[in-house]
Amino acid sequence: MFIESFKVDSPNVTYGDAEIHSVYDYQTTELVHENRNGAYQWTVKPKSVKYEFKTDTRVPKLGVMLVGWGGNNGSTLTGGVIANREGISWATKDNVQQANYFGSLTQASTIRVGSYNGEEIHAPFKSLLPMVNPDDIVIGGWDISKMNLADAMARARVFDIDLQKQLRPYMEHMVPLPGIYDPDFIAANQEARANNVIKGSKKEQVQQIIKDMRDFKEKNKVDKVVVLWTANTERYSNVVVGLNDTMENLMNSMEKNESEISPSTLYAIACVLENIPFINGSPQNTFVPGLIDLAIQRNVLIGGDDFKSGQTKMKSVLVDFLVGAGIKPTSIVSYNHLGNNDGMNLSAPQTFRSKEISKSNVVDDMVASNAILYEPGEHPDHVVVIKYVPYVGDSKRAMDEYTSEIFMGGKSTIVLHNTCEDSLLAAPIILDLVLLAELSTRIQLKAEGEGLCGLGSGEQHDLGVQVTS
Ligand code: NAD
Repeated sequence: MFIESFKVDSPNVTYGDAEIHSVYDYQTTELVHENRNGAYQWTVKPKSVKYEFKTDTRVPKLGVMLVGWGGNNGSTLTGGVIANREGISWATKDNVQQANYFGSLTQASTIRVGSYNGEEIHAPFKSLLPMVNPDDIVIGGWDISKMNLADAMARARVFDIDLQKQLRPYMEHMVPLPGIYDPDFIAANQEARANNVIKGSKKEQVQQIIKDMRDFKEKNKVDKVVVLWTANTERYSNVVVGLNDTMENLMNSMEKNESEISPSTLYAIACVLENIPFINGSPQNTFVPGLIDLAIQRNVLIGGDDFKSGQTKMKSVLVDFLVGAGIKPTSIVSYNHLGNNDGMNLSAPQTFRSKEISKSNVVDDMVASNAILYEPGEHPDHVVVIKYVPYVGDSKRAMDEYTSEIFMGGKSTIVLHNTCEDSLLAAPIILDLVLLAELSTRIQLKAEGEGLCGLGSGEQHDLGVQVTS
């Protein structure tokens, strides 16, 4: 059975006019390595940590600014939200399709809340706490290409043509703000696109981004803004002592216009200084130690390392399942071919390397968790191949072969083949990320014996970046 909403009746939960207070006892364990009767042994001791949560239930009007707004993901998300908001339906060769939010955890998944007369009761995930309705989000952002969003949607070749025709009037007046462009960080093949760029030093670029966010907030009368990077994958930036290893060094390097500070890090600096959550959807190391330091100091939410929407998500799930079942994956080979601009950008070795690292990392924890299967330092052979094939456009092909050692020296090989529009996987995930980031800024939590801690409640220290409107 399915219910739309519920309230909690518990001594641990109090509903106020504008907030919910809750207390939660987290039962966990603590490990101790101790000497007992002359021999060291591991002891597991139960531990209970008391958490107090305070959630502001006032749902704000939310603005979302995308870096890379005119890309396939940006245009697909924008069109998808408009289609849902306007209740658009469109003819395909199979049927008449209604707009939906399939693929979004917050909008299309349910949770089990208990049982009633022996029947399992499920409720929408979004009924857990008051969340922004995605239909109400105002979307904007930056792109180094000045193409309007209607043309960008046509360039992406993701939506059916009947839908594109209906969306065009809503999207043709939407034009991205100029972006921070540094050809050293993305593939050379992106240069032809870069006709909408912010001039000036790195400090001036950060100042411009701050001004853009303030203007956007003002113009659209939104209470809060969340920024999300869905621009091209950058190469890794070098982490160097004295350059970007601490907050002070990063801010000094920005002042000195140091070349190794990437555009994505500059956008993130601007957001942290403005107390605006910044989410990274690409695999590069935007969050260099100095940026993490800055975000911690100012208590501002930053997060994200590649959307992991398809092949990589599957890999995390499958390797978790196999190793968890006592089976030993020994060879994991992943091929991709895709023909969108992301694929073209990834055809350069430096940007491909960022993707390769992100796609490979997801098995590390599982391998490290099982010393019965893997010797110390042993790792499955793991190869990731990405090829740019323009004809297939956004419809990415992902082929994976997992070979594992099983009982008594046997081998098991699993092969997966997935064909899917990449942006239709990413767009609902982007939505979840911004909705949950916004929700996080309304939650404060306190662990027993510690002070209240909240995300997005950053204090303002003068770090030398001035913005004049
Ligand atoms: P895309 O190339 O279509 O869009 C990226 C946009 O960013 C382009 O319009 C480009 O002009 C713009 N851009 C580049 N550098 C910029 C900058 N510094 N400032 C502002 N704009 C800039 O790519 P996409 O298919 O939309 O994917 C976006 C990102 O998401 C890629 O990095 C991709 O690797 C990552 N990603 C996508 C998926 C998925 O689509 N399923 C999954 C995981 C990660």
